Amino acid sequence: MPYWENHVRKVVPYTPGEQPKESGIIKLNTNENPYPPSPAVKSAYDAFDCADMRLYPAPDASELVGAIAETYGVKPSQVFVGVGSDDVISMAFMTFFGSDRPILFPDITYSFYDVWAEVYGIPYERVPLTAGFHIDPKDYIRPNGGIIFPNPNAPTGVLESTEMIEKVISGSPDSVVIIDEAYIDFAGSGKSVLPLVSKYENLLVVQTFSKSRSMAGMRIGYAIGSEKLIKYMNDVKFSVNSYTMNRVTIKCGAAALRDTAYFEETVAKIVKTRENAKSELSARGFEFPDSQSNFIFAKPPKLPAKTVFAELKKRRIYVRFWDKPVIGDYLRITVGTDDEMNALYKALDEILQEA
Ligand SMILES: *Cc1c(COP(=O)(O)O)cnc(C)c1O
Repeated sequence: MPYWENHVRKVVPYTPGEQPKESGIIKLNTNENPYPPSPAVKSAYDAFDCADMRLYPAPDASELVGAIAETYGVKPSQVFVGVGSDDVISMAFMTFFGSDRPILFPDITYSFYDVWAEVYGIPYERVPLTAGFHIDPKDYIRPNGGIIFPNPNAPTGVLESTEMIEKVISGSPDSVVIIDEAYIDFAGSGKSVLPLVSKYENLLVVQTFSKSRSMAGMRIGYAIGSEKLIKYMNDVKFSVNSYTMNRVTIKCGAAALRDTAYFEETVAKIVKTRENAKSELSARGFEFPDSQSNFIFAKPPKLPAKTVFAELKKRRIYVRFWDKPVIGDYLRITVGTDDEMNALYKALDEILQEA
């Protein structure tokens, strides 16, 4: 091996869900929103003057940051924006997780956390969930270099209470605690831990436009925290790339936030379809923890999850499956439109009848 190759930063990358090239596939595999973004986004996009592309965007993305601050009742200096929450969380790892102590996250969780820890050389420990896929705050109250978990958790969809999360935050006043709220909008109002930001300087709450705001393709994520945390993150961001948010994205993101009615309507439709999916899947013998997100982590009856996954794929219905211990018994099914879900139930009936 040449000298340089011995010094390459070697990592096993994160594997995202498949994005098929062909059309006509029912795509329930990456937790995208089945509905388009607000019509206000289309108007903002159509009004964009391509001549402006020659100019750099505002490095502080102030129009978008301002709209986020207004939406959540915080100061713009408490908001950090990035290219999807993956970018935001990666920046947070780089900024805050520099100690020799391991960072802590659940053993069953978003599979990007260990990848970032590896790429940045951060020691980490996976903390087992309880039998019901819950987080026990006691497991996190010990010396650590930081804590991160999603709420609701992925891929389980299980929501933890604010009281439980507050125990974790107050139990680790010497570490930054990141709560990844990618799916919180599907959990009902008042479930976010954002109100705790004014009480705990060490809490960083991360959210995204990719799921509840139907804009996965535009790549917008943000973090809200104390001014101190956000300042540290911006210092790192401006040392890597000042212009992460492009002009079109800034405009479209701000427009999406202003259309509260559309957002609430779309989220309500998905929640309704999800609740119906719980009865449909239960009736067919599926077992699943109660989901408060836009997906259901369900264990099929009669057949291994791997077989059901392959059979659905043959019928052009894509869901997510991980060939790993414990989670390999389950399929993660994104909540689509009612029509898409009906096609799924029909396909499941065929597959299970043959079994
Ligand atoms: C989808 C997801 C993200 C990342 O979403 P972006 O598209 O990068 O905003 C982050 N965390 C969890 C748990 C997710 O499921």
